[in-house]
Amino acid sequence: MAGGRGPGPGGPMRGAFLTEEEKASQPKVTPALLKRIFSYLLPYKKQLFLVLLCIAVSSFMSLMPSILTGKIIDEGLIRRDLRALIFYIVLSLAVTFLANLIGVAESYINTWMAQHITYDMRNQMYAHLQKMSQRFFTSNNQGDIVTRMTSDIDGVQMVITNTFTSILSNVITLIIAAIAMFQKNWILALVGIVIVPLFTLPTRSAGRARWSLTNESQAAHDEINGILNETLSVSGQLLVKLFGKEQKEYDRYKEINHRMIRLNIRESMAGRWFRVVLTTFTSIGPMLIYLTGGILMIRYGYDLTVGDITVLVALLGKMYMPVNSLLNIQVEWIRSMSLFSRIFNYFDIPVEIENAPDAVIPDTADGNVEFCHVSFAYEEPNRILKDISFRLDAGKSIAIVGPSGSGKSTIINLIPRLYDVSEGSVTFDGIDVRKLDLSFLRSQVGVVSQETYLFNGSIRENLLYAKPDATEEEMVEALKKANIYEFVQKQEKGIDTQVGNRGLKLSGGEKQRISIARILLKDPTIFIFDEATSALDSISEQKIQDAIDPIIRSRTSILIAHRLSTILAADEILVVRDGRIVERGQHKDLVQAGGVYQELYETQFSRAIVPQEEGVSELEQYIWGTQPADEP
Ligand code: ADP
Repeated sequence: MAGGRGPGPGGPMRGAFLTEEEKASQPKVTPALLKRIFSYLLPYKKQLFLVLLCIAVSSFMSLMPSILTGKIIDEGLIRRDLRALIFYIVLSLAVTFLANLIGVAESYINTWMAQHITYDMRNQMYAHLQKMSQRFFTSNNQGDIVTRMTSDIDGVQMVITNTFTSILSNVITLIIAAIAMFQKNWILALVGIVIVPLFTLPTRSAGRARWSLTNESQAAHDEINGILNETLSVSGQLLVKLFGKEQKEYDRYKEINHRMIRLNIRESMAGRWFRVVLTTFTSIGPMLIYLTGGILMIRYGYDLTVGDITVLVALLGKMYMPVNSLLNIQVEWIRSMSLFSRIFNYFDIPVEIENAPDAVIPDTADGNVEFCHVSFAYEEPNRILKDISFRLDAGKSIAIVGPSGSGKSTIINLIPRLYDVSEGSVTFDGIDVRKLDLSFLRSQVGVVSQETYLFNGSIRENLLYAKPDATEEEMVEALKKANIYEFVQKQEKGIDTQVGNRGLKLSGGEKQRISIARILLKDPTIFIFDEATSALDSISEQKIQDAIDPIIRSRTSILIAHRLSTILAADEILVVRDGRIVERGQHKDLVQAGGVYQELYETQFSRAIVPQEEGVSELEQYIWGTQPADEP
């Protein structure tokens, strides 16, 4: 309500002073920043005007009772006029009630406005974040991103509902109170106004002292917790016992515990002294007015009534809170500005990958992909890919193999434009992917990544994510092809089985196969498989293999392969090392060439053959060409 709003975000103690961190990161307040903040208020200028009006009226009205006290005393009590007395009392109560009613309306409009402004801001931020590249999400802490979306924007709401209105109502209260005082008597008003700021001095110095004590005791508290966690844990105790450090740890604990109680005593006494000083100061003000008023009346025959002096004292009392909270405004102002500039900084991160202004949407898609002298760096100058060139014709498949960290996943990230090349070009059906409409491009590419990501929901919901209008038959078909239908059928709820958070209720192999079904429903032109390196049991692997194999043989696909069987299904093998294609060709030739591939074959791929006794001979035969494979 009017007549003194508390500080805004963070509560009174935390709110009173800036932390070192906050001091260091103070934003520059430029007209551009203010204009930008104001642009968020602009759509709600009607509401803004209403809020201002309500604040002005209710601030004024809440001072009325103080002014009416004069009438109650002079016209009611001193003149012994009962009717006047009752009239002013009723008027005073009515005005107070009305001021409160207006306050309710103000809160409502204000909250409504703040909620809508932050609603706009949140949506804008979410949409903006969605346009951010993969680079943004890998290089920013997820916690920071979420904080920006949640607490920072909540902070904005606080600024609008608290800080903003508190400044306004305090300023208005002070102005009205000052005018009313000057109207009664300028000398007394002057006396009052000179001493008001003095009230606030003890508040601030006591606040500062307490603030630093609070910080100190917080640090001591953390230290105590640290010691407890360290020494009272199972392994900590073991260490203490085995090294015979009981006495030493006890002394350490006792010392800090003692420091803590001294701090606590000082902290609570700082509060106590503060009250002594404050109450003394607060009563000095009225006394000075009584004294000066008395002298003016008695000695100099000024036309002052008892009521006038009482009004002045009452108004003075109303000024204390607003002045005090306006003194804290600077701190709140800086906090609010940093809040806004933090949010704006996020808004200003350029969108790295977006549609070209003249983006093309081809009518048909064949799915020819070509890498032309592609170089790429996540962070310049550290080139992860160097001069990569290859061609994937529609209907064919390529397997990319190479040691871990050689850049295989990076190559496939460039196809759906999760990143853009640093040099060279990636083309889709002869058109540079940077010239293609992004949503078209991404609809043409289906990726089954190593880290299968399922949303928390049912299997059905996860499938529909790929194709919202998929029919029951289509879904069953996809599940069958992905070799997971049997499993789904066995579930009590079938396709409506919940997969759990990130699909945690399913095994790795089941998740993979569901994500294969999801890609089959999406039915892209190009399939990309990033085969999981982590070993699944051989039955799961076989099931995945059976799901992927037909796709590789019949559709345009690129796979990062770790298992010989998948490699063999591809038309061409690219061997990548340190970001370069070092060998390419067919399995047989590559093994015979005796290079990197042969080394990989001996250390990694052949391992995959071992678990399946029967498969060995069959595969070996296929590999060495002694017997034609039963598939092309
Ligand atoms: P592979 O798939 O062959 O195991 P990657 O393509 O994942 O290799 O990684 C190639 C190199 O790029 C590695 O050295 C890796 O550390 C680096 N790298 C991968 N992702 C990022 C990223 N988001 N930011 C910076 N470096 C990355």
